Amino acid sequence: MSLNDQWRRVRARLQAELGEATFNSWFKQIDLIGVGDGRVMLSVPTRFIRNWIVSHYADRLTKLWADEDEGFARVDILVAAGEPKPESVPESIEEPSRGVRPASAPAESQAAPSAIPSGLEDAGVGAPLDPRFTFDAFVVGKSNELAHAAARRVAEATDVSFNPLFLYGGVGLGKTHLMHAIAWEIRTRQPERKVLYLSAEKFMYQFVRALRFKDTMAFKQQFRSVDVLMIDDVQFISGKDSTQEEFFHTFNALIDHNRQVIISADRSPSDLDGIEERIRSRLGWGLAADIHPTDYELRLGILQAKADDMMQKNGPVTIPPGVLEFLAHRIVSNVRELEGALKRVVAYASFVGRPITLDMSQEVLRDLLRSNDRKITIEEIQRRVAEYYNVRLADMLSARRARAVARPRQVAMYLAKQLTSRSLPEIGRKFGGRDHTTVIHAVRKIDELCHLDSGIEEDVDLLRRMLEGGHAPN
Ligand code: ADP
Ligand code: MG
Repeated sequence: MSLNDQWRRVRARLQAELGEATFNSWFKQIDLIGVGDGRVMLSVPTRFIRNWIVSHYADRLTKLWADEDEGFARVDILVAAGEPKPESVPESIEEPSRGVRPASAPAESQAAPSAIPSGLEDAGVGAPLDPRFTFDAFVVGKSNELAHAAARRVAEATDVSFNPLFLYGGVGLGKTHLMHAIAWEIRTRQPERKVLYLSAEKFMYQFVRALRFKDTMAFKQQFRSVDVLMIDDVQFISGKDSTQEEFFHTFNALIDHNRQVIISADRSPSDLDGIEERIRSRLGWGLAADIHPTDYELRLGILQAKADDMMQKNGPVTIPPGVLEFLAHRIVSNVRELEGALKRVVAYASFVGRPITLDMSQEVLRDLLRSNDRKITIEEIQRRVAEYYNVRLADMLSARRARAVARPRQVAMYLAKQLTSRSLPEIGRKFGGRDHTTVIHAVRKIDELCHLDSGIEEDVDLLRRMLEGGHAPN
């Protein structure tokens, strides 16, 4: 049993014990870093989450790991910070109060800020490029064709084309992918050109550090010596005045020297509030190309490409055609989630050793599908359930206790709890002003019946699908 499998099992057990909502609040973004010395190291995104987990779930986590392997005696939770922060220090769950700090600072803060980069991203100035983010792996559709064409053009040109190239669009739509693709392409075609890619956050961080170490000359030097500068997610420097100023100078200096600048943001230059007007307008001088939300065709194309890629790497996986279409229809938020959904289905199937099916995909992705759905209302649930059981809506909301209406009412409460984010008291109120304990009772009852009575289970399942799919039964 591999470590990943053990980790998956620990998570599954936690999820089963805590329920989905609690699990998602605290454990959704937890990652396994590794094990060693009888310690399991996990990471979470914020200190707040770390503290909460340490104070509420430490024993449970430690126990679950020990159940997997007696050798795991301790669980450490780290705060995974993008940039080194003082809090990204491991503290043991066993002794949360001890607060041991390792003598050495996180590796990144030791990197010399002054060297003029040669390998650039290796010098700690830029950020590493993701080997998967190439032009070959980028699927082009209507929504991203302009951005793609502009990126290609900049990557292939020997002179400076549009300056700056400003790529913008919502989260997870491929901005970072395109920037990395440009960098890879230039590296292969014109290895002598110096390309520097980094996030605006990192730019800011380096600048602040340079100020602190009174090293701004070196800072300026290293940015102004590049041929192609790419700054990702520039919306992050809004409001930070001195950084903005420095960014602007760097930007102007490069453009004046005819160096290529590529910027990305989650919105257009003119919508970048918190950034000075003169900077905003200057950002829009070159070409601003936006990436729109994906359409169905593009989503399907991306899924097919990712599935092919997985097969090349991991051997044959049989994904029935309906599953990709289903995902393309239902996961509409962004490409990152789409990709994640496919990975989850494939990983789950191989984990339980069963072939991928539509049912399985729906089951595995339940939470994701729900968040991609339009909001389901309690009223809609009540109406659908009443229709389904052929009872009058008014009766379902009334005080009547007859079994013929009581059971549908419980089913509707159960679905309201499952499919909406309403609290128990809110649900009770919507059912003719009932108490929240009545709702709890209904949820338990239906849960129980689903295990005992496959008829009820089917009803609930069908209703859920109808509600989630938003279409009428036929
Ligand atoms: P952004 O920077 O816009 O938030 P990313 O570039 O990080 O988004 O993209 C999120 C994920 O989706 C990445 O794994 C990326 O490879 C993938 N992706 C986005 N658009 C495409 C596309 N057109 N073709 C293939 N993969 C894509
Ligand atoms: Mg990005």
